[in-house]
Amino acid sequence: MDDLRKEMLKKLPKIDEILLILERQNIYDLAPHEIVKETCRKVVQDLRDKIVNVKKKLPSEFSPDTAAVAKEVEKSIRGLYRYSLRRVVNATGVILHTNLGRAPLCPEALERIMEVGRGYSNLEYDLVKGERGQRYDHVSSLICALTGAEDALIVNNNAAAVLLVLNALAEKKEAIVSRGELIEIGGEFRIPEIMHKSATKLREVGTTNRTRLGDYEKAISDKTGLIMKVHTSNYRIVGFTEEADIESLAALGKSRGIPVMDDLGSGCLIDLDLYGLQHEPTVRETLAKGVDVVTFSGDKLLGGPQAGIIVGKKEVLAKIKKNPLNRALRIDKFTLAALEATLMHYLNTAAAPKTLRALKALTEPVADVKKRAEELIRKLQNENFDQLKFSIREDFAAAGGGSLPTQQIPTVLVAVKNKNMPATKMEEKLRKLEMPIIARVDKDEILFDLRTVTEDELVFLIEGLRQINI
Ligand SMILES: *Cc1c(COP(=O)(O)O)cnc(C)c1O
Repeated sequence: MDDLRKEMLKKLPKIDEILLILERQNIYDLAPHEIVKETCRKVVQDLRDKIVNVKKKLPSEFSPDTAAVAKEVEKSIRGLYRYSLRRVVNATGVILHTNLGRAPLCPEALERIMEVGRGYSNLEYDLVKGERGQRYDHVSSLICALTGAEDALIVNNNAAAVLLVLNALAEKKEAIVSRGELIEIGGEFRIPEIMHKSATKLREVGTTNRTRLGDYEKAISDKTGLIMKVHTSNYRIVGFTEEADIESLAALGKSRGIPVMDDLGSGCLIDLDLYGLQHEPTVRETLAKGVDVVTFSGDKLLGGPQAGIIVGKKEVLAKIKKNPLNRALRIDKFTLAALEATLMHYLNTAAAPKTLRALKALTEPVADVKKRAEELIRKLQNENFDQLKFSIREDFAAAGGGSLPTQQIPTVLVAVKNKNMPATKMEEKLRKLEMPIIARVDKDEILFDLRTVTEDELVFLIEGLRQINI
């Protein structure tokens, strides 16, 4: 270490001196002593690390005075009061954006969370019998009515649902899966790894592009616990392909006394063909084909809160409910409250795609998206944005969240070009606003995709541009 660095290390402020300054500034109104002291240590340690590790010549800010360090500590403590998990404006055009929290909740779901969270609830209490009840009972009748299932069970998310079903039905046994369906969903969810963790042995059959019913038949033995079908919801195998259809698999399972499960992933409850989209198997039609268990997410095409929904035959569900993992994966009361309110919208099949935001974004006619883009441009032109240039462009949005992978959804973008700022800089500034705006960047423009921005949110775009142009 050179002499300059040694000198700088020696001159670093002492913790006690920093604390003295902070105490005079009433820091203990903001946080207790332990937290303030720990923060001082951390700030000084960071400075020390920088002095030791920075390769270049050291600029003067590496030897700050005590007051400057105290300021840094205070800033860090004030930072604890800033909400980290916040609402953002999704202007990316990816409707079920996993990093942006997938499906937004409907107003009724939000109201139910407030109402149920505010006081006590009958979460596990049967008000008619006056005795202990089951938390799933609050949504199972609705789910059964909407899907034709005999029974339903809800867990934390669909990954948990798959883990639970595998463990409950095929622990220490084999689960037969087609090689073309050994998928990865992202975020570490891979079918072979989930199988391993559920203590199920994977029995792969067929090839990547072709698997026939006979392949499953040949693989059945006294070790088989389950036949599993996985909906390749986030990619498609196209070209020279073949897969065993669900009816035949269900019939095969039935004739050999082996349960058949279908992991649908996106879990659609309405017929998307009606809105000019690709056909996505609905939960009802999948169950009608005779499978024993279907699993799907609450926050993908269903448009509700994060949840894993397991539906199917009563005896099979009874076995799954008894599994000890179920307790570890159980759903919380807020999610149940939100899910119940979301599901109710589906009682009016025609209205659901207008009231649930994710479904609305998916099915809204492009002409309506265009109207919103034009409205935004009109409003932007009323502002004094001299350095900004706006234009309208047509493009495609995406369902996201591992749903409808090949579906191109026509959309309309508003492109913003800034004469004095590169687009990457604008993107960064928008992202760091009090109400962060997540936009696309294309060369020297940022793009707002109006398919994922509601009319109410237009003000945030306008206000955001105002703020970054000061
Ligand atoms: C998304 C998905 C999962 C995981 O669901 P989460 O709710 O994200 O845990 C599992 N299987 C399939 C087929 C999926 O598409």
